[in-house]
Amino acid sequence: MKPFCSRNSRDVRILCYHRVRSPRSYLSVEPEDFEAQIKHLAGLGYESLTLEGFFSGHAKPRSVVITFDDGYADNFEQAYPILKNYGFTASIFCITEKMNSPGFLNRSQIQAMARDGFEFGSHTLNHPHLPELDGETKKREILESGVRLKTLSGVDVRYFCYPYGQYDRESLAILRDSYYRGACSNRPGPNRPGLEKDRFLLRRTEISGYDQLEDFDLKISGAYDALHRLLHAVRGRP
Ligand SMILES: [Zn+2]
Repeated sequence: MKPFCSRNSRDVRILCYHRVRSPRSYLSVEPEDFEAQIKHLAGLGYESLTLEGFFSGHAKPRSVVITFDDGYADNFEQAYPILKNYGFTASIFCITEKMNSPGFLNRSQIQAMARDGFEFGSHTLNHPHLPELDGETKKREILESGVRLKTLSGVDVRYFCYPYGQYDRESLAILRDSYYRGACSNRPGPNRPGLEKDRFLLRRTEISGYDQLEDFDLKISGAYDALHRLLHAVRGRP
């Protein structure tokens, strides 16, 4: 497939997935589609980075960060073998209170992936709308979740992801003043390595279960960024 536009910059796109399973839905990508997308990236010469790799300056002209939100068990059962097969890695954001419950990742699955270089981050304790919480609860959801996830899983937790992509000034201040090294939002577009002001507002490109390979190719080329920016503005997201 011919690239839609130049990808030869050092900007890094962070892809946002939730589930890999049948049947497809907005949040569930069919395993065959997921494999075709990873194969496509590998064919274009992409390699995947964790957020730690991104912030450590390991980004190359064709680097991508693959993230999963919520910590579903299908990330281990379906996505992990495919990613491993292509030498790819991923960063998975778990809802701490869901961990070890049916349908969600458990300790041994997380540890197996971590041994292969996968990275785990916090997606709060209970997946609330952070801007609606009082200060103390917000703090607990952000700070306690990472500590508890580390205790429950036995792996380091250095990154955070806002539920529903929603954040406010207070959440940002809590994160900037904490042990976290960065946070993913749902703001569209690529990320420039070294841009400190965006460390806690990393941009992501959402991949839906309804994306055809052509759509996926356009998304990684940036062709959907303007449309996504417009949608975010209409929804009133910061
Ligand atoms: Zn979520």
